[in-house]
Amino acid sequence: MALHVFDFDQMVSRFLVRETRLKTAGRYYPSEIGNCLRKVWYSYKHPLEVDPEKLKIFEVGNILHGFVVEVLKSEKNKEVELLKSEFPLRIEAQGFVVSGRVDDLVLVKESGKSMVVEVKSTKSVDYVQKADPKHLMQLQLYMHATGIHNGVVLYIDKTDLRSKVFPEEYSPEKAKEIMQRFAELHKLLSAGLLPLPEAKKSADMQWMCRYCEYAEKCDKNEG
Ligand code: SF4
Repeated sequence: MALHVFDFDQMVSRFLVRETRLKTAGRYYPSEIGNCLRKVWYSYKHPLEVDPEKLKIFEVGNILHGFVVEVLKSEKNKEVELLKSEFPLRIEAQGFVVSGRVDDLVLVKESGKSMVVEVKSTKSVDYVQKADPKHLMQLQLYMHATGIHNGVVLYIDKTDLRSKVFPEEYSPEKAKEIMQRFAELHKLLSAGLLPLPEAKKSADMQWMCRYCEYAEKCDKNEG
């Protein structure tokens, strides 16, 4: 008689299942603001069920961040001291709130300076030649809100833990532009007005449309 085994894929899916987080206009997230504004707008107006396969990919990111924290706080690594990790952040703006979670804050011993660290896992670090503008926006906001004006995006490879670190200078102008994106999103959501198809119109962002769950709606300019 064949041994009856269990379906671990299904067990993981069940373990990770969670309610779709319904987003309400007026509360926005730094991790999303670098996306196409129209797509973010759709995610508020037409929320989709979270794809279980995507939840697994997010979980890999969480697991890897846990590993990065262990490395940063290890006694074996004297060059940095982990000051905080996964701490909440809130920016009050006119009529809306931006809320997020900063991955890590470290003290770099040599310079004596604190530094914000945003961790991203990637399929292959070899293809990462510069930090993704979306991730830089997130980092700029964190630097802006914490008042710690040094930051890096740390990419870590999911297959072999190799990494690349990209420093970013704080720019009050960039932080202001990002806050203006939130304000624009808030205005359009409140008025029920569909944003322009930002990614379609920008050569740097067009690739996003290939992975967009709202492409059909967007092609029809559905509100
Ligand atoms: S299809 Fe492209 S332009 Fe349209 S919402 Fe999606 S990402 Fe934006």
